[in-house]
Amino acid sequence: MNSLQALQKYFGYSAFRHQQEAIIQHILNGQDVMALMPTGGGKSLCYQLPAVLLNGLTIVISPLIALMKDQVDSLNVSGIPAAFLNSAQNPDEQRQLVEKLRNNQIRLLYLAPERLFGAENKLVPFLKTLNVVQIAIDEAHCISSWGHDFRPEYLMLAQLKTEFPNVPVIALTATADKLTQKDILEKLNLNKPKVFVSSFNRANITYRVIPKRNSFQQLVNFLNERKDESGIIYCLSRKSTEDLADDLKAAGFAAEAYNAGLSSEIKVRNQEAFLRDEVKIIVATIAFGMGINKSNVRYVVHIDLPKNIEGYYQETGRAGRDGLASEALLLYSPGDAGKLQHFARIEGNEAQSRIMLNKLNDMVRYCQLQSCRRQYLMNYFDEAFPPNCGSCDVCLTEFKRFDGTLIAQKALSAVARLNERFGINYVIDFLRGSKSEKIRDEHKQLKTYGIGADISKPDWQRYIRELLTMGYLQMGGDEYPIVKLTDQSAAVLKGLQKVEFIESETVEETHTHVQAPPHEAELLSRIKRVRNDIAQHENVPAYIIVSDATLVEMAT
Ligand code: ADP
Ligand code: MG
Ligand code: ZN
Repeated sequence: MNSLQALQKYFGYSAFRHQQEAIIQHILNGQDVMALMPTGGGKSLCYQLPAVLLNGLTIVISPLIALMKDQVDSLNVSGIPAAFLNSAQNPDEQRQLVEKLRNNQIRLLYLAPERLFGAENKLVPFLKTLNVVQIAIDEAHCISSWGHDFRPEYLMLAQLKTEFPNVPVIALTATADKLTQKDILEKLNLNKPKVFVSSFNRANITYRVIPKRNSFQQLVNFLNERKDESGIIYCLSRKSTEDLADDLKAAGFAAEAYNAGLSSEIKVRNQEAFLRDEVKIIVATIAFGMGINKSNVRYVVHIDLPKNIEGYYQETGRAGRDGLASEALLLYSPGDAGKLQHFARIEGNEAQSRIMLNKLNDMVRYCQLQSCRRQYLMNYFDEAFPPNCGSCDVCLTEFKRFDGTLIAQKALSAVARLNERFGINYVIDFLRGSKSEKIRDEHKQLKTYGIGADISKPDWQRYIRELLTMGYLQMGGDEYPIVKLTDQSAAVLKGLQKVEFIESETVEETHTHVQAPPHEAELLSRIKRVRNDIAQHENVPAYIIVSDATLVEMAT
């Protein structure tokens, strides 16, 4: 039987998705693989199918017992003998399982990592007596403390390659962040792994962010239009999941809470009621959802700001596994960002908290985007994507844009003049000609000092944010964040590249304050003076050629 026949016979699917086929072929060839696929992409099949085709035992490492049970049940229903080992089994059940394993009657054995390498470990020596043909590590990002769901017990998996040097290992995750990827490969010590990255785009999910005001009322409005549909609402704290579920029930919605603090009895009950469509809405912390395979989740709402894009994307990915149109809604408030910043600082050590803060920053930028959200998400996962998806709130809104090339040139030349050594607020103070003694005394001789005084601080913050998003500026710096130029900055400064900003009410206001330009002759002589000044007094980087437009601005 070849893989396609097995796919049809055991799983009832007519074709492979993404790179499933290539991944499976690698495993069948005995090679190590890391497969990155979005949530709902079909990762399980990548090891389940080889398990069927290879005449031996596949060990599956999975983080949650609840998941194992689901998977084992559905495999058995499909006629694939699978089992899991857990502490709840009595000695009799364990003996029966050992017997079956000895007789090569089990294709997949699911285990938690701590069971495989527990304290008084007898399991590995036993497994080594069997014909182990594949080891699958599901949710492999749990091994990385850079990931969003670190589980210390996953670190024990570093021994796998020593214990089973000749067995192909497949690591699976929906977390594509580069740092985490590298960490997974290093920690697992895979042998010349082939890394498969599927497109992370979930075309059937619409992304939306709205300002969080009266979140309960906003939520009720949203839910009222989706009365018969299933959805997940993510909250930051355990308590708020329970409070919100109560409030929703009081308002007539079929909602239940789910968080790690609830008894396993209640968790199982609520989860199953949701899977069976008896409960439409699950109000949960991020503890809910890993591996939950409910195909008709129509929406995922984040009522609080997620800590990072990885988690957010994985959570939103639980919507629309059936491929039908689904929604991801996020309620954003800057206050939430402040709260999470505080947590990030106190939670980790210094290096760790810096990473967490950077990730939080990326999350906040996502919320503040004025360009395509899907493009940002894809770029975040290092995937190129055109700038207009047509199905996120930004793409769906008609924004009025204006030519902001001049503004962009001012910002970029300020960054250049300051030798790319300062943070956003410092650059803005410089642009606005801050009266702060330190800034004034240090830079007032620079012509660029104060060229942006006609624009308010909040508007500058917005423009610089957009310039960052558009890639004309970037953040750098080891100790503290510094604004730097990019490869694309020069084109803007030379006037070769137009820059458009989105108009907002405050922007219009400042634009009406721009003074009338002086006469041409007067202007030309001033431009000459500015050119001379720049040439004589300033350390002008060779690639910065300030356009006439900027010079006009500097001269007036
Ligand atoms: P992941 O672990 O990547 O989040 P799953 O392995 O749980 O995703 O698969 C998600 C859904 O896609 C499941 O319902 C699964 O049965 C289905 N699926 C997987 N591969 C295929 C395929 N080739 N064709 C159709 N459906 C598939
Ligand atoms: Mg999975
Ligand atoms: Zn878009």
